[in-house]
Amino acid sequence: MAKSISSIFEESGCLSEKQLTDYLNGRMNESEMHSLEAHIAGCDFCNEALEGLMQVENKEEIPVIIKQIHNQVRRDLKAHRARRKKVKMYVWLSFLVIIILIILLVAFLAEYYAIK
Ligand SMILES: [Zn+2]
Repeated sequence: MAKSISSIFEESGCLSEKQLTDYLNGRMNESEMHSLEAHIAGCDFCNEALEGLMQVENKEEIPVIIKQIHNQVRRDLKAHRARRKKVKMYVWLSFLVIIILIILLVAFLAEYYAIK
């Protein structure tokens, strides 16, 4: 998944991380600020994101923090996928073992009755 969090924001009509950081750094004009505030008033997701970013004292660190969050999300996703892959592998492995046991049993029975 190459999609970053910021593209998720944008696709859902939400704020990009650039918009959020520009807002916090006061790098926005009046009308931009107005539409951003209007969005935040009606969007819990962005409201929470902004509140979280507001707690960062050094605003220049925000891109670094967002990058860390991206990496964390990516790591979690990867671990989750690896876990699912492992479960799938065990299912296949036990299926294979059962097939082999059935083949052995059939072979054994065929041999048994052939001798008789
Ligand atoms: Zn939003």
